[in-house]
Amino acid sequence: MTSKKIVLHFPHSLLDQPIVYKLVKDFNLSFNILKAHVTPNEEGVLILELNGDDADYEKGIKYLENSGVKIQPLSQDIVRNEKKCTDCGLCVPICPVGALVVDPQTRKVIFYDDKCIACELCIKVCPTHAMEAHF
Ligand code: SF4
Ligand code: SF4
Repeated sequence: MTSKKIVLHFPHSLLDQPIVYKLVKDFNLSFNILKAHVTPNEEGVLILELNGDDADYEKGIKYLENSGVKIQPLSQDIVRNEKKCTDCGLCVPICPVGALVVDPQTRKVIFYDDKCIACELCIKVCPTHAMEAHF
């Protein structure tokens, strides 16, 4: 039995495809959606817990990869380099779990690392490379 929390990145062309439904129907997997988000550049991000027999799980993951879905485990540690952050706020609307928030009084961007699910979306948009993934 395998049970893992993973992040799925769907390109825009796959957003209307019944890909996750097929994981249940064709690969006997069950899932629990933890978060779902569509980014401003229309990439879909789905964070889910995927469960099933080991062999079915492997086949399901291969099916996702062959379909063009990028898969990332939830095992990385995201840190913010405070010296590089300019509080520009670009990362705030991108974060699917509210881990990056503008303080209404100071206008500074606060990073709640305990909420972060390591989806890496903020890393792609941060102009100063203040958000870093550590393995
Ligand atoms: S990696 Fe960045 S965007 Fe993703 S949850 Fe963590 S802080 Fe939010
Ligand atoms: S995008 Fe980068 S520089 Fe801007 S607030 Fe977020 S972490 Fe700071």
